[in-house]
Amino acid sequence: MHKFVLLLLVSGLCFSFGCAANPITGEDELMLDRDYHHDIKLGKDIAPKVEKALKGRIKDQVLQDYINGVGHKIARFSHNPDFDFNFVAVNDKSVNAISLPGGCIFITKGLLIKLENESQLAGVLAHETVHVVARDAENMMSKQVGMSALFILAASQARTQGEVAAANIAMQLVAVKYSREDERTADLGGMDYMFRAGYNPNGMVETMRILQKEEEANNSCDFFSTHPSPENRIDYLRARIQSHYLDGIAGTKTGEDEYRQNVLDRLKNLPDEPRR
Ligand SMILES: [Zn+2]
Repeated sequence: MHKFVLLLLVSGLCFSFGCAANPITGEDELMLDRDYHHDIKLGKDIAPKVEKALKGRIKDQVLQDYINGVGHKIARFSHNPDFDFNFVAVNDKSVNAISLPGGCIFITKGLLIKLENESQLAGVLAHETVHVVARDAENMMSKQVGMSALFILAASQARTQGEVAAANIAMQLVAVKYSREDERTADLGGMDYMFRAGYNPNGMVETMRILQKEEEANNSCDFFSTHPSPENRIDYLRARIQSHYLDGIAGTKTGEDEYRQNVLDRLKNLPDEPRR
């Protein structure tokens, strides 16, 4: 690397880094930038690589607009709506959902066809929204791939190195495994977001049950290779509904018809393999 580029990288870090409280955990952490500008840039650099690794976006604009619309309803109630949220359905047949720094969230076709209504979809997207706001992906990436890769990616001067780093990070993010505590925070925080957005919180419990059946039926459920087993998650989510949401559940949305029309019926009419 040229000294000039190195100097730019180092000087960039001095101006950009600082400590700030994580809005979900309340703990101080190293931040790329207080206004999340770098989170968003990092996510946008990685997003095309992750999308490609997940077999590209599903080519149905009605379905994409619906998924993105449900996601944005939830993101409005997040601790930081300033992230650049974007919810994308991808062709991969694995049962999975993935969040990138800055707000890009992917959900796979393999997971979409297992779900039965809009509140279950809201549960998945709300869970991933908490991962974004808590900056879980970025914190994990800084441990797994090292801050040096993030530094290179954050520096627009290092275009070639940035491309290589983005590809590496994209592959790691698809298989990233968060801590049990991060997942619990994403479950409970996500249930709060979806409830405030008007969704029936039972949707998240139903999603866990669907994924549990999937795990029992075949051991290749990718959501559980990257997430803890659902057994005790169902228990603490049901307890949360009893203690926090029971009085407000009447009138919340389940959205079975909307989900069937905008997702399930449309997926049936799509070709199995993406057109290239
Ligand atoms: Zn998670």
